[in-house]
Amino acid sequence: MLPYATLQEAETAIGRSLTCAETLWFNYTANKSDYALYCHAIPLLFLPSILVPLLYVLIELIFPIASYKIQPKIKISLYDNFKCYLVVTRTFVLIVAPTLLVSYPSIKMIGIRTSLPLPSLTEIIAQLIIYFIIEDYTSYWLHRAFHIKWVYENIHKVHHEYTAPTGFTSQHAHWLETLVFGIPGYLGPAIVPGHMITFLLWLFLRHTESVEIHSGYDLPWTLKKYIPFYGGAKFHDYHHYVGGQSQSNFAPIFTYCDYIYGTDKGYKYHKRLQQQHQQLKDGLKSDAKQIGGSYASAASIKSE
Ligand SMILES: [Zn+2]
Ligand SMILES: [Zn+2]
Repeated sequence: MLPYATLQEAETAIGRSLTCAETLWFNYTANKSDYALYCHAIPLLFLPSILVPLLYVLIELIFPIASYKIQPKIKISLYDNFKCYLVVTRTFVLIVAPTLLVSYPSIKMIGIRTSLPLPSLTEIIAQLIIYFIIEDYTSYWLHRAFHIKWVYENIHKVHHEYTAPTGFTSQHAHWLETLVFGIPGYLGPAIVPGHMITFLLWLFLRHTESVEIHSGYDLPWTLKKYIPFYGGAKFHDYHHYVGGQSQSNFAPIFTYCDYIYGTDKGYKYHKRLQQQHQQLKDGLKSDAKQIGGSYASAASIKSE
């Protein structure tokens, strides 16, 4: 809760007029405790788990864009999507939401502030970049640990149930994995603490990114084109495609960790094979066209 009773009091305390965003924040948070503000994380995490995957399911049903599907031969039925959705919702209600409700003291300890002034856009973006880098590096090593035989067989196998992932499979995991992979999300804000707005935005973006890389679609507007070293859906899809034996593509966001530690060799080989296959297909098509063309010319000469 803000320590100011009125807007004027807040303006006097920070020594200038409030911006439009700060006035909105003041009005919105005036009667809300910091705990209530932190609890906004629950819908902000739940919405991407439901709405973003649903969008992909609708795309598949209404506007089938098979050319962008990473594994076009695999069809996930509506029933399977629904089954996966139920598992994800159960994990969210029983594990994620209660963990968020009791983890408030850690937010206080980290130093996440709710007060005025609000952070500038530059500060928010800089902190988000740092959070994504820390998340990626930590999750890379955690993910490698989850592929140790015993850990894989007893915990991580649940996340690998779908070899062709969809948005709903992003959170489809053993409860212990859900908890462990939640830690990197708090590590960045603990090292570089920011405002509650940045923290909530971070949780939302982190969750949405996870749904995107599991979507099963390599859409033309993917962030891969705009963010250097961003792995995207194709990069993580390969990790699921290989399954339990996968020793490739562990990083959830960027590609450089797998490049540095040599865990992208299988993926590179796979991409080379795909390119050769495509070149062969294109070559056969152009040969067929040429043959078709000469038949056509022969037919036209005959008819003359
Ligand atoms: Zn894995
Ligand atoms: Zn995954």
